[in-house]
Amino acid sequence: MKAEILSKAQEIKEEVVEWRRHLHMYPELSGREFNTAEFVAEKLKEFGVDRLVENFADSTAVVAEITGEKPGKTVAIRADMDALPTEEKTGKPYASRIKGVMHSCGHDAHTAMLLGTARLLCQMRDKIHGKVRLIFQPCEERHDCKGAKHLIENGVLEGVSAIFALHVFPELPTGKVGTKPGPFLASSDVFRVKVIGKSTHASRPHQGIDPILISAQVVNTLHHIVSRYVDPLDPAVLTIGKICGGFAENVIPDEVTLEGTIRTLNSEVRDRIPKLIEKALWGITTAYGGAFKFEFEEGTPPLINDEVTTRFSVGKMRELLGDENVILLEKPTMGGEDFSFYLQEVPGTFIRLGIRNEEKGIIYPLHNSKFDVDEDALPIGVAVETFLALEWLKSHS
Ligand SMILES: [Zn+2]
Ligand SMILES: [Zn+2]
Repeated sequence: MKAEILSKAQEIKEEVVEWRRHLHMYPELSGREFNTAEFVAEKLKEFGVDRLVENFADSTAVVAEITGEKPGKTVAIRADMDALPTEEKTGKPYASRIKGVMHSCGHDAHTAMLLGTARLLCQMRDKIHGKVRLIFQPCEERHDCKGAKHLIENGVLEGVSAIFALHVFPELPTGKVGTKPGPFLASSDVFRVKVIGKSTHASRPHQGIDPILISAQVVNTLHHIVSRYVDPLDPAVLTIGKICGGFAENVIPDEVTLEGTIRTLNSEVRDRIPKLIEKALWGITTAYGGAFKFEFEEGTPPLINDEVTTRFSVGKMRELLGDENVILLEKPTMGGEDFSFYLQEVPGTFIRLGIRNEEKGIIYPLHNSKFDVDEDALPIGVAVETFLALEWLKSHS
């Protein structure tokens, strides 16, 4: 069956590339994937899926199901569809036609590959033991619109026994895939701090409370949280990426605001850091006679690949692509992904798909304005998704 899938995936390569280029030219931001969703639904209708839900749970998500001729469980595959507010600088003929919006995270490729998978599975119902649910998810890049969490709360995983997803990965060359069991990507949370002082003339600091000086202490102290309160064997990052305050060189302002992100691979550490930040803020601002406001915005949890589905995926991908093309990645990365929400509910595996091609100049990182995908990787992605879905269902029927 693997030879059949590989050749079928190659046969539809041109179409998958065409879909990807169309999506790439007309990217849409998180939560506004209206035309993308319509495009996806059109194609799925054309292929003849057995069930199709547009605007799932009042969002732009499209959820489809393909039912096999044999009884069995349900397996899900997810592709995200949103783009980023980036000005594309690739100069490619299929570059974004929408000013300031770009598919710089490869979600155009994810959507096109899952459409390819749908197309193949619709021709292979005799080999499906159960059902394959295809989740075309909006809003992966932002926390404030209807992404994975919203779909799960509305039952998108009902009856699902396992879930898989691919993400293009510019550090791996085309032809290779990689994954690892256990912690794979970090949690990603945001915090905002307002340091409140008391405005005064710069020449009379004793008559006010200087929030800029307090903020300097805050920046310094918060950077000690990871180094002094977290086990060095538990990776964590705290970065303050934004600081704003003041109007003029001769005025001590009323307040300063700071914003930062926290990344961890461990839920216990993730829960502890905001408490430590608040404690430090209280101590520092009190010492200087100031005050503070602290806001913590929960983002995505750490992405933990299930041991069983991941060992299974690695074995099956080796069967499909050859041992040398499947890499057991050693290290997680501190990036975030909302696929982690699905993995909190059902076992599953997040897989990296190599798309790097130095000869074609495809070397830029995700979210870069020159990011591109080597389209030779698209049929590999289609074959992996199709094979994993069929094999998981077969071995669990
Ligand atoms: Zn991204
Ligand atoms: Zn992404």
